[in-house]
Order: sequence, then C-alpha cells, then structure tokens
Amino acid sequence: MVHSIETLGVGAQVGAYLDDTYLEQVDTRVIAVGERDGTPWAAVEHCLFHPQGGGQPADRGWLEDTEVIPVRDRESGLVVATAPEGGSLPALAEGQKVRARIDLRTRTAHAALHTAGHLVEAVGRMQGWEMVGSIHFPGQARIEFQAPRTETDTRLTDPEGREEVTAALRAAVAVAVADDLPVFARCLADGRRVVHLDTLHAAPCGGTHVRSLGDLAEVVLPTLKVKKGRIRVSYTATHVSYAAPHMSGTATHRSHG
Ligand SMILES: [Zn+2]
Repeated sequence: MVHSIETLGVGAQVGAYLDDTYLEQVDTRVIAVGERDGTPWAAVEHCLFHPQGGGQPADRGWLEDTEVIPVRDRESGLVVATAPEGGSLPALAEGQKVRARIDLRTRTAHAALHTAGHLVEAVGRMQGWEMVGSIHFPGQARIEFQAPRTETDTRLTDPEGREEVTAALRAAVAVAVADDLPVFARCLADGRRVVHLDTLHAAPCGGTHVRSLGDLAEVVLPTLKVKKGRIRVSYTATHVSYAAPHMSGTATHRSHG
C-alpha cells in the first residue's frame, strides 16, 4: 500500500523518461516514502525510471548509489523506486534532494528493441495484418499479427511464401531505417500519449523510444512463423553506438563514471 502519495495529487511526479530517453541523471527531490509488503520505497519528482510494462522491461536505476527497482504503483499510478529483494534504500525523507540515475546502455538497448517493435508492427500492417500481441523483452522480442485469410494465404501457408513475405518485411524495415524517420510522441486532449514513426505509423504508447529510426542497428527478422492462426514475427535490434547523450530537464548532471 502507498499512503502519502494520495495527498500529493496528480502531476506531482514528472515522467522524465517519457520526455527524454537519453537523460541519464537528474537531481530531484523525494515526494513520498513508505513501505509495502515489508519493502521500503521512495517516489521522486522527476522520475527517470521506466517501470516494467507495455511489454518492456524495467530500467536499471539508482537513487544516490543504491540500486533500485522501479515499479508502477497501481493505486496511485506513480512509479516508485523499491529496494531490491533483501536490500534497503538510503535514508530518505519527503522533500529531500536526491540524485536519480539510470543505466543508459540498458535504457537505449530497451528503447531500440521497443522502437523496432513499432516498426515491425508498421510493416506488418502494410501487409494488411492486424497486430494482436507484442513483447519487447531482450531475447524474446516479437510481434504477433492476424491476417484476413491466414489458412489460405499462400504467403503464409507455404515455406517459400513465408520467405517471400519476410523478405518484403525486411525490405520495408530497411527503407524506414535508411530514411532515418523521426520518432516522436504527442499527447491527445484526453491525456493519451501517441508515439509516431513520422507518418508511417502511430500508436498509443508509454514506452521509451529512440530519437529516429537511424538509431536502430542490426534489425534482424528471422523468417516468420504461423502458429495457431497467428503470424509471429520475431526480431532483434540494437542501438547504434551513441556520442555523449544530450542534456535536458532540470538541474541535471552528467555522470562520467
Ligand atoms: Zn512505444
């Protein structure tokens, strides 16, 4: 249970990870502390930590020098930093200044996989398919689709057809990456966040994304499979090696460690 967060009201926490995928560290303040199921937690104002959700794993993060596990609190909707199992948090009080940090390599790896998932969804839709499932975890990333005539479409029923249609997906992915299409988010009037791959694709999403599709490297699509009427397109992707990440947000410090 999270208690004191309820008195803070909506907007007390800024989802900094939604504004800038590449923000590595921020000096912020504690807005609530507590304990749930015997595990201490703290919520900070500028939240760098992406919690597990939407098929994407959680960030690796720290408060001061203590590693934390970010978790979405269902009740308040806030992201709280919890101590790892058997661990503890630094002594933190509400209002106290604290430095939050993420592991940028993990973040960019997740963002690349996740964004590549949007791209795979986009090129699948070009085939007339509808997305029915997605997962962006390293080692098991895949998008699942349904097609109008999965049972009779020779592109799906024949091995040669599956090779052919996978080649078409790969070609469409390669074009979008070569074109370095910008990736950006817009918030609708009802508060929903919609992520765009330029004009190619748009989808409601609360994940982290690369700046543009040219940031994607090694996007590999093995030949698709059809299982129980579903088209499964597995994929891998990495982030291009990046120069010094840009800074944004409030009172930020770059870690050179
Ligand atoms: Zn997304």
